[in-house]
Amino acid sequence: MVIVVKGNRQDKRVNELIRWIEAKDFTVQVNEGVQKTILGVVGDTAALDIDAISTFPAVETVKRIQEPYKKANRQMHEEDTVVEVGGRKIGGGHFQVMAGPCSVESKEQVAAIADYVKRGGAGFLRGGAFKPRSSPYAFQGLKAEGIEYLLEAKKRTGLPIVTELMSVSDLPLFDKVDIIQVGARNMQNFAMLKELGKVKKPVLLKRGMSSTVEELLLSAEYIMSGGNDEVILCERGIRTFENYTRSTLDISAVPVLKKLTHLPVIVDPSHASGRAELVESLALSAIAAGADGLLIETHNNPRCALCDGAQSLDEQGFARLMEKVNKLWAFMKSLK
Ligand code: PEP
Ligand code: MN
Repeated sequence: MVIVVKGNRQDKRVNELIRWIEAKDFTVQVNEGVQKTILGVVGDTAALDIDAISTFPAVETVKRIQEPYKKANRQMHEEDTVVEVGGRKIGGGHFQVMAGPCSVESKEQVAAIADYVKRGGAGFLRGGAFKPRSSPYAFQGLKAEGIEYLLEAKKRTGLPIVTELMSVSDLPLFDKVDIIQVGARNMQNFAMLKELGKVKKPVLLKRGMSSTVEELLLSAEYIMSGGNDEVILCERGIRTFENYTRSTLDISAVPVLKKLTHLPVIVDPSHASGRAELVESLALSAIAAGADGLLIETHNNPRCALCDGAQSLDEQGFARLMEKVNKLWAFMKSLK
């Protein structure tokens, strides 16, 4: 941590700050300039509160040079992490599309969708068995039965499955699930993140709708510090004052995350936009921004979907999207 202060070491106010930091067992290196003094704080400064330091009158600016997350930090792991599951790689130049219905509604529905997402070129089948719904009266998912239908679809198609965990107590049901999704509403469910740190399978961690990039990385850190390094991050839109779209896709989060972390980053244009007609534009911009994959909602009959029909592509829409995705991905690779 670097602190720029007004005055020099002899200044009473500078001294007060140095003594406060040293009392917390940190070493302070003092570099005196002509007008300003720079204090370098040495030690594990993750626990040092920037806001508290800013309250000292001597302080001009404070900057962390070490982010509060370590295992997720690119400084600690320069190479891109490649997550591999079911023979599919994601990250480090490998691109994947995870696609399927918002919620698993029946055996037939998920089987039909699994067939066409595979034909379209998706690498994973994704569907919700446990659904986080704003209203307690809305369809809550088929739960264990939904996982069974996903597993049957996996058997048919060979596509590994991704599905959301909403409560730690359901974890035993996820034994055969390939990637466990943590939804936006649970990004800071720290008890769940700690449990997922002990699990030996990849976690798809979605950004909370009001969470900063740093908070997302700290949530990834919870999982990684527990011993599970296989975390895939997902930008899914954040809440802003704009209400034409369901959320606002924070496209800049993609290059920002790529800079700060070595973990794969995917984008969910479906929940970001809430509108099927916008999904293609957002998906293609995500690829142009450097995303390692996409999460796409698609339904064989969007009008009758029990959840998120308005943002779900139909079979033809999904096929059209995949054609463009493949072309743009190939073009992006040719630029490298
Ligand atoms: C989902 O992926 O089905 C979902 C509920 O999305 P989010 O958690 O991003 O809102
Ligand atoms: Mn959904």
